[in-house]
Parts: sequence; structure tokens; C-alpha cells
Amino acid sequence: MRVTPYTPEVLVREVGLRDGIQGIATIGTEDKLAWLALEAEAGVPAFELTSFVPPRILPQFFDAEDVIVKGKQRCRAALAALVLNDKGAQRALASGVDSIVFVISASATHSAKNARTTPHEALAVVRRLIESVLVQPVRPKITGAIATAFGCTYEGRIAPDSVLELAEGLASAGVDDLALGDTVGFAGPRQVGELFARLRNELGDIPLGAHFHDTRGMGMANVLAALEAGVTRFDASLGGLGGCPFAPGATGNIATEDLCFLLDEYGVDTGIDLEKLLAARRWLAQLLPNEPLHGALSRAGLPCAIPT
Ligand SMILES: [Zn+2]
Repeated sequence: MRVTPYTPEVLVREVGLRDGIQGIATIGTEDKLAWLALEAEAGVPAFELTSFVPPRILPQFFDAEDVIVKGKQRCRAALAALVLNDKGAQRALASGVDSIVFVISASATHSAKNARTTPHEALAVVRRLIESVLVQPVRPKITGAIATAFGCTYEGRIAPDSVLELAEGLASAGVDDLALGDTVGFAGPRQVGELFARLRNELGDIPLGAHFHDTRGMGMANVLAALEAGVTRFDASLGGLGGCPFAPGATGNIATEDLCFLLDEYGVDTGIDLEKLLAARRWLAQLLPNEPLHGALSRAGLPCAIPT
């Protein structure tokens, strides 16, 4: 029997093992599990650990079942996997994953390139998949996620009304929480605050999550705007690793360590030990010596007075 993970007031979800490695070389299962263990030990309560997509499309996730099963044996954190289709949902359910993230894209072009479908077709598929998960006797939590919710390299700004419509479609299907993704780092804080405020107004008190990339340096400002609009779940990747192979120009997610530092400074208890998180980042830098890591906290470490 697993112990229920600590539930902080604001949930930090590490997505480096999914979003972070999606565009880079494949790493081995044991290295993934070591990464998971290090961050779980630092107190990170939730991970998006893998993606149940066919390995011929994204070979990085060749071991999706394995990392979920072994990850659950080795840590108490909540483990999520990304799912795009029926086969993926079946595999995810069989793996015993704690949470499934169903993602659709608000941009028609990104949707066509990433999933070969339209946003509305994707919503219809996901609604059907959610229905099939909801009838399971023991079911994982379900996150409905909307990628490119703030804009996309192909289409520019995305109309808030179309995001709202997709969000309503996911919420009424029965998702447990709802996340908006700024997949290519298009958003600024005002846009973030306004869109989440609309979501909050129109969808009631469903928990809201944000997934920001720091492509244009707006990541931390966007976190603050989202926090103030009532967002309580934030995705980030250690060392800001990541991008999107189907979103040209996208750089990494916001850095987990910077996010935690901001939340800490803001007075939010995340339950995460920043020194241990920075140690995990140093480990990651050694694991991936050719990948650029990002983030500001790691440059100078935690603030402290220099002894004189
Ligand atoms: Zn992303």
C-alpha cells in the first residue's frame, strides 16, 4: 500500500522526464528512475513521467510502462503520463499510473502537425477517452490540458473564446483538473491573468494548472500572474530542459528550481528542499553534458550572506 503523497497548497509538477527529454536523445530507464528518485527525495510531489505514444513517433518513451511500474516502487510521488489516443489510454491504465494527462491543442496548425487532427476532433476523441477512464472501478486522476492556449508559432495569438470552448468541453467531460499550456512561450503576464480569470469565472472551482515555457523570458512573470488568478498547479522542468519538436523555436519549460524559489519567496509552501533540488540539477547537468540547461537560481545558488 502506498502512502498518500503530501499535498501542498500549490503543486509543482516536474515534467522534465516527459517534456524535457522529448526533443533530445533517448536516455536509459535507470537514468530516468535515478532522476525521479533524486527529485522525489527533494520533495517534488508530482511528475509527468512519460508519454504513451508509439515509440516509432517518440522513441524517448520506449519504456513508458517500465518507468511507471518501477517509479511507483521507488517513490511516493504522484506519477502522470501523457496520452493522445485510445491505445495510449489502454497502456496507461494497464500501467497503474496515478494520473493521465489528455492533451489537445488550441491551434489548428499545431494540432495538425502534432496529432494530425483538428482541435474539435481531438476534443471529441478525448471526451470519449475520458468517459472510458471514468467507468474504471479504480481510476487514475484525469487532467485535461490545452496546448498552445496562448499562441503558436504558426498562427500567432489564439482567440480566448476558442480556448474557453475547449476548456468547457474538457470540464464537462469530467476531468479532475484543467491546465493551459504556453507550448512555445507566447504568453505575457497580462494575457495569462486575463485568460485564467475567465476560466475561473466560467468553469467554477475546478483546479487550474499552468504549463509555461520560458522562450521569451516571461516564464516567472507568467507564473505570478497565474498564481494571482488562482492557478494552483505548475509544470516545470529541472534546469529548464525541453522544447517541442512540433513547435519551432520553443525552448525549455520554466526551470523547476526557479519556480520553487519564486513560490518560496511568495510565501507558498511547496514542501520542496531547494538545496536538494539544486543538487539534482547538478546531477542532470552531468547526465546530459551536451544539453543546454537554463534557469537563474543555479547561477549563484540560494541567497546567503558572504562571511566577512
Ligand atoms: Zn511543454
